[in-house]
Amino acid sequence: MYFDTHVHLNSEELYENREILIQRALDQGVTYMCVVGYDLASSLKAIEVVQGYDFMYAIVGIGPNDCLETTDDDLNILDQYLNNPKVVALGEIGLDYYWDSVPREKQKEIFEKQIALAKKHHKPIVIHSRDASEDTYQILKAGQHGGVMHCFSGSYEMAKRFIDLGFYISLAGPVTFKNAKTPKEVAEKVDLNKLLIETDCPYLTPQPFRGKLNEPANVVYIAQEIARLKHLDVEDVARITTFNAKKVFGIK
Ligand SMILES: [Zn+2]
Repeated sequence: MYFDTHVHLNSEELYENREILIQRALDQGVTYMCVVGYDLASSLKAIEVVQGYDFMYAIVGIGPNDCLETTDDDLNILDQYLNNPKVVALGEIGLDYYWDSVPREKQKEIFEKQIALAKKHHKPIVIHSRDASEDTYQILKAGQHGGVMHCFSGSYEMAKRFIDLGFYISLAGPVTFKNAKTPKEVAEKVDLNKLLIETDCPYLTPQPFRGKLNEPANVVYIAQEIARLKHLDVEDVARITTFNAKKVFGIK
């Protein structure tokens, strides 16, 4: 059993074929998935996609690249979405200084307001942080609320600091890339009890399918690489990362 903690079956690239992709994932033993939003429309779509599947859950939130025009009214709508029992976390939220498509002050404001919302609903947060580790760290430290560092790309030292704040480290396709020294070091050194796996599909396709469209079934390759680096059986990586994911998302 594998738990792909971050998929975008609500995306334009995957939505139409979602039923086929879900079946292909099940055939590979991927028995749990979270569909993640990044703005109001994709969040609503995430809720819609998971309806009728008892092994799928939704995560709703407004990401740093999509918050330019976010208002308090939008956050009130998000507040409503969080009442849905299929919604297990608030995300993906955070800071993105790579694209820098939204002024940093605005990114921080919407990030902080959503942390408050997650606390109100007692749901964990799923963090997108790109080229913004230190500011992300400071906001999360002040926020005092745990969750998941999605597609973690920082150093082992940085991972430890986030773990100390109550976060799990989620590894995606880059850990399988040949020259990805840092993610491999993180996979090797971070305690398996603090690791999650994800595809972030349709993006970040792992080896051996790099260059093709990514899908949830490929999460198996991420688990395999972690197992190789940690000298463990892949079944153990699958079992423990699934246990971790169920724990953080409050799934029985
Ligand atoms: Zn994502």
